[in-house]
Amino acid sequence: MEEECIFCEEPEGLEKDVIKRYDDWTSFVNLKQKRLGRSIIKLERHVEDLLETTEEEINQLHNQVLPELKKALDKAFQPDLYNYASLGNSVRHLHIHVIPRYKDEREFMGKKFRDKDWNSHYKPYGENVEVEDEIRNAIAEELRKYV
Ligand SMILES: [Zn+2]
Repeated sequence: MEEECIFCEEPEGLEKDVIKRYDDWTSFVNLKQKRLGRSIIKLERHVEDLLETTEEEINQLHNQVLPELKKALDKAFQPDLYNYASLGNSVRHLHIHVIPRYKDEREFMGKKFRDKDWNSHYKPYGENVEVEDEIRNAIAEELRKYV
């Protein structure tokens, strides 16, 4: 475990946002919900470069974690496209962003989500990207139904 790594220690309350725990990975709903269902998949051990992963970890990511998350997002919110990103600029602990992209607006629990950058690079930050805890927890609950 690295000192002061938020993904090694796991922030309090994360459990309600967890979609599924695997041997090597955990998928959970991102605090930022500019695109409905935006999620993160983090490796269970502290590694900072994608190429430091083992073949077994990559196999699990490819054969279980990503397909199950994608299936859940498809069933819950019907995205039109997926973006995958592994950046590590502010949190070094290896994680992969799964960003569902939408041609049209979606509504969940009375809140409207519009992908304003459709057909363009996603802009991760900006206005109103964080949602209330109850909405985020409910998004995770919805996705858990399908994984
Ligand atoms: Zn870590």
